[in-house]
Amino acid sequence: MSEQKIGRVVVLLGAPGAGKGTQAAILSERLGLAHVATGDLFRAAVRDKTPLGVIAKGYMDRGELVPDQVTIDMLLERLGSPDAAGGILLDGFPRNTVQAEVLDMALADRGASVEAAPYIEVPEAELVARLGGRWICRAAGHPYHEVTKPPVKPGVCDIDGSELYQRDDDKPATVQARLRQQLGALEQVVGYYRNAGVLKTVDGSRGIDQVSSDLLSVLSAR
Ligand SMILES: [Zn+2]
Repeated sequence: MSEQKIGRVVVLLGAPGAGKGTQAAILSERLGLAHVATGDLFRAAVRDKTPLGVIAKGYMDRGELVPDQVTIDMLLERLGSPDAAGGILLDGFPRNTVQAEVLDMALADRGASVEAAPYIEVPEAELVARLGGRWICRAAGHPYHEVTKPPVKPGVCDIDGSELYQRDDDKPATVQARLRQQLGALEQVVGYYRNAGVLKTVDGSRGIDQVSSDLLSVLSAR
C-alpha cells in the first residue's frame, strides 16, 4: 500500500433524500476532490479482483457484512491513488460511530484527520415527502410523484388513463419507518463529528444551487 501524503478528507453527511449524491458530484468537481462512495468502491474492487476485493466478495457471497477494517483498507488504498492526491469526499461512510472511530484511527496513523463533515440537514417531514409520494399506473407502471411530477388529473395516468396506485414500499408509513431507522444512525454520526468540532451544518431544505453554494462556502473557510 502506498504511503503518499493524504490530502483533504471531507465526510459528506445527509439522510436519504437530502440530495447527498447530487451535492457530492458538484462539490468533488468544484473542489478537486475524488468522490468516494463506498458502494462504488466495493463494486470496483470486486470487478478488478484486487486482494481486498476478493476478501470483500467472500463476505458478500456468504451474505455477511464486509468488516469495517476491510472497507477502511479499501478507502486507504483509494486515498493513495493519483486522482485522490488533492483529497477525497466520502459519501456513505462512515455509517455509524464505530466506523467513524476506525476511520479516525486509520487516518491518524498516517498523520491525517477528517477536515470537515458538512451535514445537509433536511427536516424529517420533508424527507418523507421527497422519498414517498410516488405513484404508478396499473396499466404500464408509468411513474408519478405528488410533488415533483403530479398527473394532470389526480389518481389517473396522463398517458393511458389507468388508475394510479402506491406500492407498499412507497406508502408514507413504510417510508417513515425505514427513514427513522436510518436517521438514528445518522444522528449518532452527526453527534460524533459535532464533538470532534468538524461538523458544518447546512440547510438542505432549499434549492440545489443554494445548498451547493453554502457547502462550498463552509468548505472554503479552512
Ligand atoms: Zn400509464
